[in-house]
Amino acid sequence: MEKDKISVLDIVEQTMADGPGLRTAIYCAGCDHHCPGCHNPQSWNIGNGNWMSVDEILDVIKADEFSNVSFSGGDPFYQVDAFTELARRIKAETHKTIWCWTGFTIEEIRADAHLAQMLPYLDVLVVGPFILEQRDTQLLFRGSPNQRIIYLTPKEDDAIPGTVPLVPLR
Ligand code: SF4
Repeated sequence: MEKDKISVLDIVEQTMADGPGLRTAIYCAGCDHHCPGCHNPQSWNIGNGNWMSVDEILDVIKADEFSNVSFSGGDPFYQVDAFTELARRIKAETHKTIWCWTGFTIEEIRADAHLAQMLPYLDVLVVGPFILEQRDTQLLFRGSPNQRIIYLTPKEDDAIPGTVPLVPLR
C-alpha cells in the first residue's frame, strides 16, 4: 500500500452533500466492507482509482479558501497511512475541518492502533456499515440508523439530529 499516495475515484469541489456547508470531498477507491445495497460498489476495487500524491490532493484542497474537507469513498481507513498524512497536513497548514466516512465501527477503529492513528486529525467521523434493511432516506449524512455521527472535536458540534459526542477520545 502506498504511504504517500491515495487511490482517488473523484474529487468534488464545493459540494454540499458531504457534511455541513461547502466542502471539498475526496472520494477514494478501496472498500472491503461490501455492504449489500452500497451506493457506490465501483469504489470497492482500489485499482479503480487514480493514484494522487498527498501534495497533489492538498493543492486542490488549499486552492479553495472557504470549503472544508470530507473524506469518503470507498473507505478512507483502507488507506489509513496516506489519509492520516493528508489529514495531518490539512490541520497543520489550514483551518479547515475534516469529516470522514467509514464502514468500520468506532469500537473497531479504537481497538486497532493502525486505524486509530487518523483520529487525532479528524473533526467528525461517520461510522458503521450501511445496512440495507434499515435504509432511511430521511437521515442526514448517513444511509441507515446504525451509522453514528461522532464529534471528535467541539469545533463541529452543530445541532445535527442523530449526532453524538464521543469523549474522552483523546
Ligand atoms: S462501507 Fe460504504 S463504500 Fe464500503 S461497501 Fe459499505 S456503503 Fe459501500
